[in-house]
Amino acid sequence: MTKAAPVFVAPAGIGRGVFAARTFRRGDTVLTIEGRVVNYERLWEREGSRYAANCIRFGPETYLDPGDGPAAFLNHSCAPNAAIGKTANRLQLIAARRIAAGEELVFDYSTTIGDDDVWRMRCRCGQPSCRRLIRNFGSLPPALRQHYLANGFVPPFIVRTLADPSFVMSRHAGLSSSLIRPR
Ligand SMILES: [Zn+2]
Repeated sequence: MTKAAPVFVAPAGIGRGVFAARTFRRGDTVLTIEGRVVNYERLWEREGSRYAANCIRFGPETYLDPGDGPAAFLNHSCAPNAAIGKTANRLQLIAARRIAAGEELVFDYSTTIGDDDVWRMRCRCGQPSCRRLIRNFGSLPPALRQHYLANGFVPPFIVRTLADPSFVMSRHAGLSSSLIRPR
């Protein structure tokens, strides 16, 4: 007997999206993101392609190609209900708050774009807080950066790319060390 899939892919506001097949509590791992780890050079060769856009940063010099898996359809939102984490050398989609069955799962792409990354995207997510242009983590307003960092919604390898690490250390002295410790 196979376990029911935690998510499903269906038409979304733009193209297709990934939807919750059941309710999730804040902090739940919604999905372990399957895929192939590729070097950044491979991504640069295909800059601007759908392939490149679907890849998710995986480490200092690597990205995860989700292939045709559900993660290829994960959309961005400027007011996300999910986030990307990394444990046991795998990426996970984590519930950032309670998520009802049928809700589209979205995360803020800026939390997986390091300050050493040049990828950008126009956004029409329709949220009041929409930033219009999605760029690296360092481009976020300070309060939003602080919010994502304090909640553990930024993978450690992204934290390590931040142009201003003092920002992390000085303003987040109360954070658990696991957030800042390199992996
Ligand atoms: Zn937006």
